[in-house]
Amino acid sequence: MARSIVVIGAGVAGLAAAWSARRRGAQVAVISAGVGETALAGGAVDDVPWDQLERAARLLGGELPAGELAPAARLFAAELGLWDVPQAAAARLATVAGRIRPARGRDRALLDLGPLRRTRVLVPRAPRGAWDADALAESLADEPFARARGLRFLPVDAPILRFDDERRIPDGDLAARHDDPARLSWLLERLREALEGAGGAGAILLGPWLGARAPRAEALSARLGVPVGEALVGAGSPAGLRFEAARDALLAAIGATQRHGRVRAVGARRDGPGDRGERVSVHVEGDDAPLEADAVILAIGGLAGGGVVYAPPERGAGHDLAARGAAPFALSIAAPVTLGDARGALGVVSSMQGPELDVVAWPCGERPGALETVGIRCEGVRAAPGILAAGSVVAGRARTVLDAVTTGLRAGAEA
Ligand SMILES: Cc1cc2nc3c(=O)[nH]c(=O)nc-3n(C[C@H](O)[C@H](O)[C@H](O)COP(=O)(O)OP(=O)(O)OC[C@H]3O[C@@H](n4cnc5c(N)ncnc54)[C@H](O)[C@@H]3O)c2cc1C
Repeated sequence: MARSIVVIGAGVAGLAAAWSARRRGAQVAVISAGVGETALAGGAVDDVPWDQLERAARLLGGELPAGELAPAARLFAAELGLWDVPQAAAARLATVAGRIRPARGRDRALLDLGPLRRTRVLVPRAPRGAWDADALAESLADEPFARARGLRFLPVDAPILRFDDERRIPDGDLAARHDDPARLSWLLERLREALEGAGGAGAILLGPWLGARAPRAEALSARLGVPVGEALVGAGSPAGLRFEAARDALLAAIGATQRHGRVRAVGARRDGPGDRGERVSVHVEGDDAPLEADAVILAIGGLAGGGVVYAPPERGAGHDLAARGAAPFALSIAAPVTLGDARGALGVVSSMQGPELDVVAWPCGERPGALETVGIRCEGVRAAPGILAAGSVVAGRARTVLDAVTTGLRAGAEA
C-alpha cells in the first residue's frame, strides 16, 4: 500500500515536498492555512540571499557565480513552469525602488537586464501611485551595473492604462486584466507605438502588471521582438498570485489533494503490534477527528510565513515580569520538535538585569539574529520520528526560494 503523507503548508517548500513524494508513489495531502512568504515575495528566485551574492561578485571582480541547480530542482522548476533559472549567469533585476540586483533566477514576468549591453530601456509613464517612471529611470541609470553595461533608461509617454480605474486598482487587479489575450494585444499596440516613437530600444520595463494567472511578458516580448518585463516589487506583487496559480495546477496534475485548514497540533501515535507501527496524527482546526499519516512534513514557513511566532515571555506576564528567561519564539503549532537557530537549541542569555532576549533575537555584526534563522532543529530534514521539516521553518537555513525547494525535495524523498 502507498505511504500516506500529509504536507502542512503550501508555499514553495510544501509544493516541492508534495511533488517529490508523489514521484515516489506516496499518497499526498496538502493542508494550508493561506498566504505565506512565497506568495508575498516579489518573484526573485535566489539560492543564497542576494546581498551575499553581490558581495561575492565584488570579491570576484564583477563576475557572479551561478552554481548548477541539482537535477531534481531543475525538473521541479520545469514542471512548475513559472521561473527562468539561467544556467550560466545570474539574472539582474530592476527593483521599483530603483536598484539593480542580482538573482539566481526570476519569475518569467520580471525583466532580466543581464543579457543587455549598450542599449536603451524604455520606462513607460503611467499615472499610478507607486509608479514614477522618471524617478525610476534616473535611479536605475545611476546603478553601477547600468553604468558598466552602458544601459540607459528612458521614461516615455505611452497610454498603457486603458480605463480610468486603472490609476487606482491594486497591481494584482491590473495584472489580472492582462490575463485577457485581447487586453494583452491592446497593450502590445501601445508598446509598439512607444518603441516607434522612441526610435527603438533594447527592452521595455513595466510595473508589476503582466498577468495574475501566468506570466504574460514572454508573449509580449516575442511579438515585439524586444524583451518586455516587470520591475521587482519588495513584497506583495502579482508574482505571488502567479505562484499560487502554478502551484494549484501542479498539485492537480500530480494528483495530490489540497485543502484549506489551520493545523493546530501534530503528534506521533503508536498503534498496536501487527499494525503499521508509528503513525502521525494531524489536528486540523474545526475537524472532529484527527487525520493520520505515515509521515508529516512541516512546511509552515518561518516568522514571515506564520510557522514561527515571536512570543517574548513578558507578553503574557501581566503585572509581573517573568522571573526566568525563555526563548522569545514559539512554533505556531504544537509538535514534538525542538526550536533553535544555527547554533543549537534556543537558550536565553542572562545578565544581572535579567534575561537578555535581544541578544538572541537581533543580528549582531556578522552573526545573524534568531529572527532570521530560528526554526525547527533537524538532522538534515528529520525533526522527530515521522515528522520532517522543509523550507523557512528549518533552523539555520537560508531564507530563499531555492533553498526551500532543496529542503522540500529532500523531505518529500525521505518521508
Ligand atoms: C517579502 C519577502 C521577500 C522575499 N524575497 C525573496 C527573494 O528576493 N529571493 C528569495 O529567494 N527569497 C525571498 N524571500 C524568501 C522566500 O520567499 C522564502 O524563503 C520561501 O518562499 C519560503 O517558502 P516556505 O514554503 O518555506 O514558506 P511559506 O511560503 O511561508 O509557506 C508556509 C505555508 O505554511 C502555511 N501555514 C503556516 N502555518 C500553518 C498552519 N498552522 N496550518 C496550515 N498551514 C500553515 C502558510 O499558510 C503557507 O502556505 C522573500 C520573503 C518575503 C516574505
